[in-house]
Amino acid sequence: MVIVGGGAVGSATAYFLATDPDFTGHIVVVERDPTYARASTPLSVGGIRQQFSIRENVEIGLFARAFIGQAPELLAVDGEAPDLGFVEGGYLFLASEENRAILAENHAVQTEAGATIVWLDTDALTERFPWINTDGLAAGTLGERGEGWIDPNTLLQAFKRKARSLGVRYVTGEVTAIDRIGGKVEGVRLADGSRIACGHCVIASGANSGAVARLAGVELAVGPRIRTVYQIDCRTPLKPRLPLTIDTTGVFVRPEGTGYVCGVSPPEDDDPESWAIEVDWRWFEEVVWPSIAHRIPAFEAIKLTGAWAGPYDYHALDQNAVIGRHPEIGNLLMATGFSGHGLQQSPAAGRAIAELITHRAYQTLDLTRFGYERVLAGKPLRERNIV
Ligand SMILES: Cc1cc2nc3c(=O)[nH]c(=O)nc-3n(C[C@H](O)[C@H](O)[C@H](O)COP(=O)(O)OP(=O)(O)OC[C@H]3O[C@@H](n4cnc5c(N)ncnc54)[C@H](O)[C@@H]3O)c2cc1C
Repeated sequence: MVIVGGGAVGSATAYFLATDPDFTGHIVVVERDPTYARASTPLSVGGIRQQFSIRENVEIGLFARAFIGQAPELLAVDGEAPDLGFVEGGYLFLASEENRAILAENHAVQTEAGATIVWLDTDALTERFPWINTDGLAAGTLGERGEGWIDPNTLLQAFKRKARSLGVRYVTGEVTAIDRIGGKVEGVRLADGSRIACGHCVIASGANSGAVARLAGVELAVGPRIRTVYQIDCRTPLKPRLPLTIDTTGVFVRPEGTGYVCGVSPPEDDDPESWAIEVDWRWFEEVVWPSIAHRIPAFEAIKLTGAWAGPYDYHALDQNAVIGRHPEIGNLLMATGFSGHGLQQSPAAGRAIAELITHRAYQTLDLTRFGYERVLAGKPLRERNIV
């Protein structure tokens, strides 16, 4: 079988297939750029959370946390255990009066699914985080356990290394054609003219997945949207430590080393599909800094120390992943379109694809609602917490 794309999702898929004793085939991962210079995974900020509004996304986040806890053991090779650098710093979602009811509904879904999220009214917010300005706030929710951030590239390399140690073959090359006869993919063709025959083909091509799907004659609205992450320093220490905080404006800020990283998604009408991976400085001055300085007055005096940009694997239908088998092309599977959640969703997505290939049905989490069927039906599955 062939996996197109060796980022976190493709490599997690390879890993879960290779560890399933019922899987007997050969696994080839085709990756066009083993430096991952333009891939989403190493350019992400590595957040892991359970604060979603769709129950499956909460469950995926719980599995991410459990997997990360076991990763040093599960992904060790020759006794060398990866250190993913998990910082259990929590996520703090803030809501205005207008959005308080949505926050409460989301909180109920999360708690029912087993996530450890606490509800904080404004007094509790001030008591817990004396550095916060509660002006315009009605409440917040905080992940007390299980949420935080990891080093994304370490997770990718650990999946890859482990998969290789289990016999997975990584081939450097760009898939430029997919041979399909009727409802079956027969193989993929690479830019160098070579061809790899396959029993299954998995599209895990990140922000390029829409283009790869089209090679198989499949419409999928997944393409690159550029996001900028700004790095700042602040001389006033925040005590206790800042969780990954998401303000009512949608701006996020979290600690990174001795400083902080922050950013925001641009407005939809100023967010074109593009592979021009360039820092957009506009949002820092116009949106990000005013927002964090209002919410955390210590950030009125900060120093902008750098920035980087990376492509979101953006699914235009509903900003949620497409995971599963194509209903009419039975051996074509997809795990893509994560729109900003793909790093934390890579363990669950990889496991899900491995279950579908090996057992023809989900064995653990039922991710049917993420299937391509909703794309065909034009029925979005929307989160009410998108960052
Ligand atoms: C700034 C930023 C912040 C983010 N923050 C978070 C976060 O906090 N938490 C979180 O969970 N997620 C976050 N994400 C999203 C996350 O990074 C992605 O959803 C995730 O990395 C997707 O993994 P992937 O393996 O599908 O894609 P990628 O890492 O992009 O890997 C896909 C691979 O496919 C290869 N490929 C594509 N086309 C072909 C082809 N034709 N032939 C061969 N190879 C091909 C590419 O070279 C690439 O290496 C963030 C993303 C960005 C940009």
